Order: sequence, then C-alpha cells, then structure tokens
Amino acid sequence: MKKVRVRYAPSPTGLLHIGNARSALFNYLFARHYDGDFIIRIEDTDTSRNVPGGEASQLKYLSWLGLTWDESPDKGGAYGPYRQLERLDLYKKYANDLLERGLAYKEYRENSDKYAIRFKVPENVTYTFNDLVRGTLTFESSEVEDWIMMKDNGIPTYNFAVVIDDHLMDITHVLRGEEHITNTPKQLMVYDAFGWERPQFGHMTIIVNEQKKKLSKRDHNVMQYISQYEEKGYLPEAMFNFISLLGFSPKSETEILSKEEIVKLFDPTRLSKAPAMFDKDKLTFINSRYIKALTDDTLAEMVKPYLEKDGIEIKSESWLLELVGLFKDRLSYVGEITEYYKNFFHDDFKLSEEALNFLVENQSLELLKIFKSVLDKDEAFDKVSLEQAIKDTGKEANVKGKVLFMSTRIATTGDMHGPSLPVSLSLLGRNIVLKRLTQTIDILGGNNA
Ligand code: GLU
Repeated sequence: MKKVRVRYAPSPTGLLHIGNARSALFNYLFARHYDGDFIIRIEDTDTSRNVPGGEASQLKYLSWLGLTWDESPDKGGAYGPYRQLERLDLYKKYANDLLERGLAYKEYRENSDKYAIRFKVPENVTYTFNDLVRGTLTFESSEVEDWIMMKDNGIPTYNFAVVIDDHLMDITHVLRGEEHITNTPKQLMVYDAFGWERPQFGHMTIIVNEQKKKLSKRDHNVMQYISQYEEKGYLPEAMFNFISLLGFSPKSETEILSKEEIVKLFDPTRLSKAPAMFDKDKLTFINSRYIKALTDDTLAEMVKPYLEKDGIEIKSESWLLELVGLFKDRLSYVGEITEYYKNFFHDDFKLSEEALNFLVENQSLELLKIFKSVLDKDEAFDKVSLEQAIKDTGKEANVKGKVLFMSTRIATTGDMHGPSLPVSLSLLGRNIVLKRLTQTIDILGGNNA
C-alpha cells in the first residue's frame, strides 16, 4: 500500500478557528493512525484576504494543541515549496499544457494583452467519487460552467492549484470541510485532464451551535478561536480531546481520551454524517476533568499569571497551594480562579434568606458566640488549629454534625456548602473571619441581648 500522505491547507487569513483546527486535527489523526505523513501547505493565492502573521499564528496554535507535522513552510521537506505563491511557475507550466491540448482557453481582458485562463468543462461527463464520510457522490458536468483556473495576474485559483499541489505532493487522502464538496467535481476534471490518479476524498460535516445553526464567526455565544481558549486557561490536552469528538465517535467506553489513545482509536468509518454539535457543557466537563488531574503544584504555576493580572497578591507559596487545593475541583478553566477568589474574599458579606433561616431555625446564636470566643484564642489560625476550633466549639456548645458544620460555615463564608471549612478560614484570615462572625451575631441580635 502507498504511504498515507495527508495535508492541512489553511489560507493565512487570520487566527485559527475551531473549524479549521478540527480539519487539521483529523488530518493529523489520520496520518498518525496509519503511520503516514502530515503536511501543512499554505494556500495564499487569494492575496487580498491574507493577513500579516496569519501563517505564523496558524502554526503557533496548531502546536499549542499538540499537533506535530512532517513537512511545512517552516520545516521544509522533499515536496516544497509549501506556500502556493512560491509555486507559481509550476501552475503556469501545467496551465500551458492544458492550453496546448485545447483543454483550457485564454480569455483576454478588454483592450489588453492580459488574459485569464478558463478550464473547458467537458460535455456530458458524470463525475462520481466515493467520499469517506458520505459514500458515493455524483455530479454532472452540465452543472458546472467553464471556470477560471488562472487569473490575469498569473495567480491560480484554489480549484486548480489544489490539484496540482495534491498531485505533486503525493497526497493520498483529502479530508476537509463539507463546504468543499461542490468544488470536488472541478478538481476531478483537472485530475482527469492530466490522467492523474485521484486521492480519496472525505468531507467532514459542519459544526453547529446548540441551536443547530452552523457556527459562524459572528456567533458570540461560542468562542470560535483557539487563542481565546488558550487565554482563558483551557488545557491544550482537553481541547485536543474535545475537538477530536466533533464529528467522530471513537469506539470507547469513555470520552476522556489522551492524544495517543485517540490516534489509536481513530477510524474514518466512524466519522459522523450528521452535523457535529459544539456542546459547551461537554467542553467544560472535559476541561475540568483535565484540571482535576493536574498536581496542585502544576496548577499553582498555571494560576499565577491570572492572579497577578488581576492584581491579586500571592501571599506565599503555601497560601497559593491552599487556594489551588480549595478550588481545583470546581474550576472549568484555569483563569476562573480569579472569579472564585473574588467571590470568596468579597468585602460585602451578605447572608441569603435561606442561610439566615438555617441559623434562626437551628438556634445557632449561642453556638456562634462560643465559636467566636474559641477563635479569639486561636493564635495559629491554620487549617489544623481551625479544625480543632470547630471541634472544641461543638463540644462546648454540645452541638454536632450538620448544625455545627453548617452554622459555622454560614456565619463565616455566607455559603451553605463549600470546600473544606478549616482551609477556607485559614485562607480568609483571622480579620475577615472575625469581622464576618461578629456581623452574623449582630444580625441574629446577639450583641444587644
Ligand atoms: N484553503 C482551503 C481552505 O482553507 C483548503 C481546502 C482543501 O483542503 O482543499 O478551506
């Protein structure tokens, strides 16, 4: 069997979009699964749409996602150059060949010796190909008009250049988005005109949002660019995992899969025919699973820049580790730490009606007064001493279990439920805790009695 060679062929028109990232990732999986080559080729012939830095940023975010490739403009390779604008002589040569054989014709611009070249669409030909995703697809040549393959500035159009390149680069499989299905018959005509073997095509379904509408760059409900996920602190491994499930269902009990596992499980027959839904809850779920799997030390390093950016003082390394330990299980993305931090250390301490009712119904006032006097004497105010303080309070007040734990929590954090209370209180620090406790006792009428 021929060595598998696939390619991702972005136009350098901007940041890496989720849809393009998916095309790249599936080509990567295909190449790695079959021990083939993965090539990156830059399709820059639509010069008005190219943006400076577009190519570099594509490559940057593909690497961030954990993709590696074998040939590309930055790496080189035996089939270069890998930018279409550097291959203009090749397109010219093949275009002239078609002209000479009468399979294409010149179209002169008015009062000028400049011309475009049109491909002459053969009459009464049926084009059929077996799509990896959709099965057999058929087009009639009568549905296609003679199309421009070379513009009058000597630059080829996509449909011509893509065939020359895929052929010369020995591409065996073309996996791309379904918006290219209608381009495929034009490309087949070019393969046939040169008598070249066609690659196997596979067109992946569109990605839709939760309202089943095609993801569009203007849809502000879904972050569309990989850079946005990086900024917020989504983990690249989680993004890789999530994107690989957009239109592919691996044969596996779990959807939490490492890159190596997905490469192994990749199977083009399991690419979905229905649109792939971008399920934000699923992404949150996957990302938080990956965050939970980090060590506290690793996560502490990762949260630092977010805290610093928000001007939050990192009191000490051990303080940071406690903070991270407290919220690790709740983070949807690493940058969310600052929101948790702010909610937790907020100044305007308020009790919800539900929380207040709990204290009233359980007659927690006496208990809280005792708690305060115990805390007054707690010099260390660390998680060990605070755990003891809660125990001592229970003993002295003769209160146990839910009433003890929830009352002390509500009175100092305002929350009915939450992470470890001794850790929370040690992080909040003595001043805030005593201030809040006094406020709660006030509200319950404790200081007037
Ligand atoms: N430059 C095209 C795109 O970005 C590539 C299409 C293809 O893979 O053939 O959509």
